[in-house]
Amino acid sequence: MAPDSQLEDVDIAYQAALGSFSSWAGKSTIERSAIMMRIADLIEANLELLAQAESRDNGKPIALARSVDIPRSAANFRFFAHAITQFSSESHEMQGAINYTLRHPIGVVGTISPWNLPLYLFTWKIAPAIAAGNTVVAKPSEVTPMTAYIFSELCIKAGLPPGVLNVVHGDGVAVGAEITKHDGIKAISFTGSTRVGREIAEVAAPMFKKLSLEMGGKNPSLVFADCDYDKMLEMTVRSSFSNQGQICLCGSRIFIEAKIYERFKSDFVDQVNALSVGAPSAEDTDIGAIVSHAHYQKVLSYIELAVEEGGKILAGGNSVRPAGYEGGWYIAPTVIEGLSHECRTNQEEIFGPVVTIMPFETEDEVLHYANDVPYGLSCSIWTQHLSRANRLAKQIEAGIVWINTWMHRDLRTPFGGMKQSGVGREGGVEALRFFTEAKNVCIKY
Ligand code: NAD
Repeated sequence: MAPDSQLEDVDIAYQAALGSFSSWAGKSTIERSAIMMRIADLIEANLELLAQAESRDNGKPIALARSVDIPRSAANFRFFAHAITQFSSESHEMQGAINYTLRHPIGVVGTISPWNLPLYLFTWKIAPAIAAGNTVVAKPSEVTPMTAYIFSELCIKAGLPPGVLNVVHGDGVAVGAEITKHDGIKAISFTGSTRVGREIAEVAAPMFKKLSLEMGGKNPSLVFADCDYDKMLEMTVRSSFSNQGQICLCGSRIFIEAKIYERFKSDFVDQVNALSVGAPSAEDTDIGAIVSHAHYQKVLSYIELAVEEGGKILAGGNSVRPAGYEGGWYIAPTVIEGLSHECRTNQEEIFGPVVTIMPFETEDEVLHYANDVPYGLSCSIWTQHLSRANRLAKQIEAGIVWINTWMHRDLRTPFGGMKQSGVGREGGVEALRFFTEAKNVCIKY
């Protein structure tokens, strides 16, 4: 059982973080890097334990936890352990003087992360924060606390000094909000819903805290008739339903050029119907359980809404009771057609195994559909037409554009969204810059 932290634990965690800040910040980058490498090694050595815990807590297929969540958590630590040794600041020469930039760690920083990729996103924030010399008060989601707990034990084993990482479990409304409003916590890196991101900004912005907000999405996939059809089809099934559609980057609105719409519809529905919905622990499960009963009900309510809005269900649309798991929260992967791009089903984040498909005739038309949402996280464009791909990539309102692929990640690239999907960018030097304070020093010759 993970602890259920209380409000007062936030200040206890903060005091521990403050107490260890100067010695951690004072270590050389090589020393910090070495400890982080040991943490990455221990994550890898405990891959099976962590994958089992993640799958049980979250409901995701064990194969996904093994192949994506846990390896990526180790990669996050290894990446920032290397990156900090290469991180450099700028110098600007001018007439009669030279400027150089110092980058100091901020102090005690807060990280708040969601349940969909629990350890993956927890480590994605902690790694750059501690690499840069900060100490951290970190809150995993109360819905999926287990791997964060195991991870904290691995950090101790790896020799991370006490007070550098302070994990506070517990409810978001209480413990999360307490982190946000704590006077001593100078920066908040948050990943979660747009609603909670807004609440955090309302409290933290007037306190002038540094803020990085990674929030919801309603990502479009744009499929042109000239695409590599088989590759597109295979990847679009994945981008729609991986992790039960509970990845912020999943494409939930699929726009298909009208001349291949009927072909796509028939092939896509066949492939979706072939996905196996079942126990997260079964090796051949494609679609596991929805993370919680509340979220299960939310997703089902959106399917009802889609029907009320005039949508036609082509696949799924129902809950599933796999043998031996009749009480679980399973939803068949659902494909809906016949909706306008403006309806609520196509404007609001569902964050489950539900996608809509819509035909389009022209590039301008699909660009309008793609951008006409409050969100702007990611987009996939499927076409062999190089100029069109680049033209659209430039005009799409999203922080991440994939051309002929999806979720192809290089950890050096800026990661994040625009509009209501986010403020700021994570990844590579963007994260190291976020977790440091820049100071310019100007020397006159
Ligand atoms: P959520 O916003 O409900 O919770 C996220 C975290 O915030 C949790 O740790 C929660 O305990 C905490 N929290 C809740 N209320 C809080 C408050 N008032 N103050 C401070 N902290 C609070 O999100 P969720 O349901 O856990 O995750 C799903 C959402 O996350 C989806 O909207 C998804 O799009 C988004 N997400 C975004 C990205 C991205 O990179 N943009 C990645 C993954 C998930």
